[in-house]
Amino acid sequence: MSNEYDVIVVGSGPGGATVAREMSRRGRKVLLCERGGNWQALGNTLSLAMLMQWVPLIFSKQANVVMAASNYGGASVISCGAAVAPPKKVFDKVGIDLSAEAEEARSEMWIDVLADELVGKTNYRLLEAANDLGYHWTKTERFVDQTRCVPDCSDCMLGCPRSAKWSARIYGDDALRHGAEVVFNTRISDIIKQDGKAVGVSGTRWGKKVQYYGKKIVLSSGVGNVGILRRAGLSEAGRSFAVDWLQFIGGVIPGMNTVHEQPMAVGTLEHYESDGIIILPVFPNWAMLAAMLPLKGAAAIPWIKNAFNSTGIMVKIQDELQGEIYPDNLLYTCSKEPTAQDKKRLQKGVDIIRKVLVKAGAPSESIMELAPSGAHPSASCRIGEVVDKNLQTRLDNVFCCDASVVPESLGLPVVWTAVSLGKRLSKHLDKQLS
Ligand SMILES: Cc1cc2nc3c(=O)[nH]c(=O)nc-3n(C[C@H](O)[C@H](O)[C@H](O)COP(=O)(O)OP(=O)(O)OC[C@H]3O[C@@H](n4cnc5c(N)ncnc54)[C@H](O)[C@@H]3O)c2cc1C
Repeated sequence: MSNEYDVIVVGSGPGGATVAREMSRRGRKVLLCERGGNWQALGNTLSLAMLMQWVPLIFSKQANVVMAASNYGGASVISCGAAVAPPKKVFDKVGIDLSAEAEEARSEMWIDVLADELVGKTNYRLLEAANDLGYHWTKTERFVDQTRCVPDCSDCMLGCPRSAKWSARIYGDDALRHGAEVVFNTRISDIIKQDGKAVGVSGTRWGKKVQYYGKKIVLSSGVGNVGILRRAGLSEAGRSFAVDWLQFIGGVIPGMNTVHEQPMAVGTLEHYESDGIIILPVFPNWAMLAAMLPLKGAAAIPWIKNAFNSTGIMVKIQDELQGEIYPDNLLYTCSKEPTAQDKKRLQKGVDIIRKVLVKAGAPSESIMELAPSGAHPSASCRIGEVVDKNLQTRLDNVFCCDASVVPESLGLPVVWTAVSLGKRLSKHLDKQLS
């Protein structure tokens, strides 16, 4: 095994890039395998790159859309930059404390609320309207380098051309500087076993079979983990999962729109503990609308008309674990639909948002609701069911580290949690390798 690594990481999103970085910084020999490419050449407008390369939408059997990403840095590259710490109410239940790791990540990822001049007048109008109604909106934390960020810009979800938003590429690049190797366009499909233990991974690169050998295998490929684990005999993976259903509500407030505003710079988590709901201003960008609106048929016409003068707010919920991932089905990759409780939670958020939009000046007849969709495929390889507290599967040397391991739906931005999990797992792996 001449090409043996200490750690092979599959997937370069926040979970995987963190493990690659932390382990290479500890002097370990690391290989990072990423299914997607590195689209720097396109000016980092990742949404476009993703649409061109591999439509990043998962369609459930019930025709619901779930967004994922296939690119260096995973979905963090197209994220809004909203930072929420790993929720205690979720991780206490499985006896995991991520507070030290989260605090370490805070300074590395520039996490803070935005300076007033970056927040934008529409965000402030919404905040004031909500608070006039008795809600408790505040500025919210974001992972953004404010020395590079500019006002009146909402390009976070287009990959942030100014590189002001933190993405997992920053940790991936740091891993490379510390000696890690990376292979792009490499889809890992199987685990290589010897005497019942994992000793490597195999897959394809531009259609050619590849094999890599390593002492520890870390699966950080999100939804992709399920196929790899099932093919290795772990049939428990992907039986029910979460997507954090969300809904965009848009209204037309004369002289305002969220198209040129920092997404999720203000909002509220006040309903999270009691109802599993969060509410944050953000609206789909052109690339997302291009992908989502054709599904609405003629009903899309008003959306297209108002796409660039709408003020949008999103409700996101902690959804119930339900459905299944079908890794090898060509027609649909999962089964997932909102349950009765999910619909109730979404409706509560929609009702609040309607009131806020009207208070902020949107005529009620201008208000439109997009159908629920998911942007956080997660909880498919849950702690306590598919992995243990050290994120190890029942197959020796195989770990999962990404949004798939969360024990239940977070209903919150996931990046900070995935990074914290990556830091925690790296400490454990380092001990095991010593
Ligand atoms: C539009 C949008 C906006 C978002 N905004 C925010 C936000 O503001 N804040 C926040 O915290 N979260 C946000 N999220 C969610 C967040 O980006 C994701 O939950 C997070 O990136 C998940 O991290 P992960 O480590 O699970 O890996 P992912 O980001 O899911 O990355 C997995 C990686 O694995 C690769 N991969 C998949 N299969 C294979 C395979 N077989 N072999 C090799 N590689 C493979 C993929 O190409 C991908 O790069 C947003 C998501 C979307 C879609």
